Amino acid sequence: MAGLRLDCPECGKALKIRSSTRPSAVVTVAHVYCESCELKGIVRAGFEQGQFAQFSPVAQTHRWAQDNKAETSNKK
Ligand SMILES: [Zn+2]
Repeated sequence: MAGLRLDCPECGKALKIRSSTRPSAVVTVAHVYCESCELKGIVRAGFEQGQFAQFSPVAQTHRWAQDNKAETSNKK
């Protein structure tokens, strides 16, 4: 969970992540601690609503948006 900021529910400061485990590919469980409140707990994070992007090939006749700009600059 490095790079993800988790805030203390009491004071709102960043929780220290003491350790984290990944019981499945889409679940991370972090043991967290707030130094200000001396509060410890567990944060569960789950990956949801995953979607793969779908790419399609560009047609050979496609007119690129930058084509006009290229022509204009060539004529100068
Ligand atoms: Zn706190």
